[in-house]
Amino acid sequence: MFFNRCGQTRSNPSRSRPHAMEVNTEVEEEPPSQAIDYTIALPLTAARPLTNRPSIKPVPNYPVSFRRKFLKIYYPDISDRQWNNWQWQIANRVCKPSQLKRFLTLSSEENAAMAGLATRLPLAITPYYLSLLVGHDMDYPLRKSVVPTINEFVQMPEEADDPLNEDHQSPVPGLVHRYPDRVLFLLLDFCSTYCRYCTRSRVVGHGRLHFNRKRLEQAMEYIRRTPTVRDVLLSGGDPLTLGDSRLDWLLTRLRQIKHVEIIRIGTKIPAVLPQRVTSQLVRMLKRHHPLWMSLHFTHPDECTPEASQACQRLADAGIPLGSQTVLLKNINDSVETMNSLVHRLLRMRVRPYYLYQCDPISGSSHFRTTVDKGLEIIQRLRGFTSGYAVPTYVIDAPGGGGKIPLMPEYRQGRDGCDLVLRNYEGKTYRYPDSV
Ligand code: SF4
Repeated sequence: MFFNRCGQTRSNPSRSRPHAMEVNTEVEEEPPSQAIDYTIALPLTAARPLTNRPSIKPVPNYPVSFRRKFLKIYYPDISDRQWNNWQWQIANRVCKPSQLKRFLTLSSEENAAMAGLATRLPLAITPYYLSLLVGHDMDYPLRKSVVPTINEFVQMPEEADDPLNEDHQSPVPGLVHRYPDRVLFLLLDFCSTYCRYCTRSRVVGHGRLHFNRKRLEQAMEYIRRTPTVRDVLLSGGDPLTLGDSRLDWLLTRLRQIKHVEIIRIGTKIPAVLPQRVTSQLVRMLKRHHPLWMSLHFTHPDECTPEASQACQRLADAGIPLGSQTVLLKNINDSVETMNSLVHRLLRMRVRPYYLYQCDPISGSSHFRTTVDKGLEIIQRLRGFTSGYAVPTYVIDAPGGGGKIPLMPEYRQGRDGCDLVLRNYEGKTYRYPDSV
């Protein structure tokens, strides 16, 4: 399994240090997190003397007025500039129950989960995302998505750590090749905020899958040797928690592979850490078109002015934006919530792309809804609102069968040469299907 191999690599301390001929040029650009070894050896051609480098100055260009009250109470000594610095946000993530209790009164289920905090997935929430939770009750949907509860420890028979069988479709560490023309490239296992329902909770946040040159070169060599791969999806962990130079280096290398037509980045950054979307980042990303982004929005309350600004920047850089949303019990499993989410996404220039049935990962039963619930939501969207607002509802087939789309049944059958159809209002129509 790829992450075990990465674990072995990490256990050798000599490997976690840069090679003597390799230079790390962007120390100050990286999030100062203790949770991950960010050591990467950049090629010498990408290296510049540290002394000549312009220092990266965060620009406080995200409005803080919406967070003023929160900042006054919880971060009275923090300047707007610090708050808008994505590295400050990562360095000050709330990762311990004792820290979380400063902001939230924990329920008995939350307290019980954190008593030993032996959850599969660590706790981490950016101060920005916490500012969205404070002031709401214990049943607030966004809170359920990031604060662990004792339910995570309930293992149902149908659940598995790797239900999609990614580890067995991984020809080299950190690369999943399931579909003929595209690969999933896992760059690291770090996220700024951990979602409790994460499909890759067996990997993310464990500090074992690093942005490590040797592993990345191996994955890129596989892509180079496989000319059928025309689409590379960068994921993890969250690729946008990497500094600009590292992303630039990787994107440049991928762009040198002639048969790679498009590159996609999967990220939750605009929802949990919009400050990361700086003008420097989008300027760099623009150099690597055609580049697409799959964002991860779960609930309409994530569509804040800051998230909207981040999406606008990405869209202005010519990056097509789609959202992948997981259907989650008591978080977004109502027509009203989903309707509000898809409309807000469109206003932020994000196309609702997929609605995922929650994967049967270990400890996920409290998040999973029935498939009928998902179909009901799609049925109540399709026809009642813009087609662009209606995502494709899919089940990622357990065992590694890939995404299978599900649609409410609009085809009623045949009557002679006629196809009998039902429209969104339930009225019956016929199509002469005789040719
Ligand atoms: S951002 Fe994505 S990879 Fe990270 S915890 Fe959430 S779902 Fe998992």
